Amino acid sequence: MIVTQRIDGKVRAERLVADVAAATSKFKAETGAAPGLCAVLVGDNPASQIYVRNKGRAAVAAGIESFQETLPATASEAELLRLVAELNADERVDGILVQLPLPKHMEPQRVIDAIDPKKDVDGFHVQNVGALWSGGLDRALVPCTPYGCLLLLRDLMPDLAGMEAVVLGRSNIVGKPMAALLLAENCTVTLVHSRSRSIPDLLRRADILVAAVGRAEFVRGDWIKPGAVIIDVGINRVAAGEGKSKLVGDVAFAEAQGIAGAITPVPGGVGPMTIACLLRNTLLAACRRRRMESVL
Ligand code: NAD
Repeated sequence: MIVTQRIDGKVRAERLVADVAAATSKFKAETGAAPGLCAVLVGDNPASQIYVRNKGRAAVAAGIESFQETLPATASEAELLRLVAELNADERVDGILVQLPLPKHMEPQRVIDAIDPKKDVDGFHVQNVGALWSGGLDRALVPCTPYGCLLLLRDLMPDLAGMEAVVLGRSNIVGKPMAALLLAENCTVTLVHSRSRSIPDLLRRADILVAAVGRAEFVRGDWIKPGAVIIDVGINRVAAGEGKSKLVGDVAFAEAQGIAGAITPVPGGVGPMTIACLLRNTLLAACRRRRMESVL
């Protein structure tokens, strides 16, 4: 019987934030300035407000200067593009993140591609996407969630070469960059999506399974290869009786026990890693803009 290890993303993220904070102090000592992160919020989506607030607090805790720009939901795309241009030119700002989703009258990729790629700490600019896929990891800013997943995997398995990795979900934010990172680690990568056939059979091949599908407990216990390492990116709110709700992942966590070798819980797995990697990207962007050796 396999004893399934619980991968503690919270503890790992705390370690990464501490490393970023230490490196930020060194950066400040050398440059006399703190790295700066500016979040842009358009409209008053409550979830987005909470995300932006949490990112700002985390930045400050790591010694990074945090700015926020807010536009009303009625702002035009041209106004947002003007703001992005100002931030591109602002010396205090090393990282720009435009909180998604944007109001429907705006084209998100057009806005993202207006960000200076060197300040694109979400890693969504087409230049960063291209650098990631063409093996230019040292030039790319990599999307935070998949990079956090990779760090968790590397802790368990320093060498991922030759492993069968299955990524469930092909979004630009998680699935596709995750596949690129695993390919760069020399895994054999299968990208599974809503039009894939025989999904359970595809998943049963996985030594490494990254689930980012956004469907509560979609992956069942008997889809998991014994001993597989599972990174569950999904965050799904479901009813928990008596009018209460709880968060669950994309994998049936209880069913995975005794089958998977290791699995991230939801919450407390990938989520904390995402914010920690945003701080890391901000520091990295600050160092690269000044042509400094990365202090991380
Ligand atoms: P998305 O909706 O953009 O993409 C979902 C993907 O799943 C799509 O590529 C689609 O092809 C695939 N899919 C949908 N239904 C499917 C089905 N029945 N069978 C196979 N594939 C199917 O979502 P996303 O932005 O990639 O996020 C995925 C999940 O991860 C969500 O629950 C989201 O909340 C969560 N998330 C968590 C973090 C974090 O920090 N922990 C960050 C980003 C996203």
